[in-house]
Parts: sequence; C-alpha cells; structure tokens
Amino acid sequence: MRDTFKHQGLRQQLVNVLIGKGITDKTVLNAIGKIPRHLFMDSGFLDHAYQDKAFPIAADQTISQPYTVAFQTELMQIEKGDKVLEIGTGSGYQTAVLCDLGAKVYTIERQQELFKKTSKFLPKLGYRAKKFVFGDGYKGLQEQAPFKSIIVTAGAPFVPKPLLAQLEIGGRLVIPVGDNVQTMTLFVRKGVMEFDKTEFGEFRFVPLLEDKN
Ligand code: SAH
Repeated sequence: MRDTFKHQGLRQQLVNVLIGKGITDKTVLNAIGKIPRHLFMDSGFLDHAYQDKAFPIAADQTISQPYTVAFQTELMQIEKGDKVLEIGTGSGYQTAVLCDLGAKVYTIERQQELFKKTSKFLPKLGYRAKKFVFGDGYKGLQEQAPFKSIIVTAGAPFVPKPLLAQLEIGGRLVIPVGDNVQTMTLFVRKGVMEFDKTEFGEFRFVPLLEDKN
C-alpha cells in the first residue's frame, strides 16, 4: 500500500477536526498529519482511516480514535529523548506518534499475533521503538524503569501499582480508568510517595486484560 496526495489531504482534514475538538499541541498535530494511519488498518477499512473513529484491527482489538491518541499524547507532554512506556501496542499507531515526537519508546502487548505483526511492521515504516515486549502490561517494565511517562491504551479496571512505582519523580502516567466507560486520568509523581491526580473526560477503550499467555 502507498501513501498518496489523497491520503495526505485527508490527514490534513483530520488534523483540522482535532484542532476543532480542542487539541493544540503542534508537535502532536504535526505527527498525526504525517503518519499514514491507513497503513495501520486492514485494507477493507481504507475509507475510514482518516475519520476520527476507532476501528477493528486483528485479535478483536481496536486502533484508538485519533482524538484519543492526540488527547493522551498531549497529556504526556513529551520532550525529545524522553524514555516512555506504552501499554497496549496494538496496531502501533500510538507508538509511531510517540516515536515521531522523539521519545524512546518501550511498548508492551499481550496478544502474540499483534506483537509479532506490529514489531515487524513499524520499523518498515521507519518508526523505531527501543523495544517491543510481549507480556503483561499490568506489571510494567521494571528492568527499564524509571520512565518519564507511561501511557495505557486499554481500559484499566484499576490503576496498576507497578506503573506508578515505575515513574520517575516528575513523571506522568496517562491511564483510562474504569470498566465499561473509562475516565482519562493523569498522575504526576511529585515525590516518592506523592502523586497528583487529575481526571479528564470519559472515553471508551477495549479492556486491559489480565495476563493470559
Ligand atoms: N495503541 C493501540 C491501541 C490498541 S487497543 C493502537 O492505537 O492501535 C489496546 C491494546 O492493548 C490491544 O492491542 C490489547 O491486546 C492490548 N492489551 C490489553 N491488555 C493488555 C495487557 N495486560 N498488557 C499489554 N497489552 C494489553
């Protein structure tokens, strides 16, 4: 599959939709304007790739809605060189956004099919995560901690303690918390035992599942 002028035009329209919905971070908008989202989806969904909607990918999972990707990434306040952890690699679209912002990305996926597919596909597009991990995101990635920010891209029934523990001081955890509907929640680590918590609007994600592999 290719990236054509038509795709580029549709992407620019999508960026304008996101601006209309309140996204302001130029680096995030720039990444979304650049990354060929249609290549992250099955070809049957080509027409939908630049609508602001979530869509099915393999293994009964979804590629997050562009607005959600933009909103979560904006909350992370990424600076070049930040070491970040993503829980739920999925299609790799969010991973590509983080790579585009210059983050060093560690990303965890528990579905083997998606882990294999995306860890092969992303480098081909030129987005190089530091590490693709096949495993359980509830545990985080202790051997690489601490992280400047952590993003969870599946709905978490509760906030996993290891993720808070693996943030550096000043670090940020962006996590949708809830069962059927999730509240986007930001934790900023102020001290060893001290976290500021801010809640944003409601979002809907596929569930963060307990380790089954
Ligand atoms: N960032 C992805 C979102 C995919 S949906 C994208 O934009 O494409 C959420 C992903 O989280 C799914 O791929 C799902 O398999 C994965 N997931 C669910 N529970 C998990 C867990 N405990 N650990 C790691 N990944 C998990």
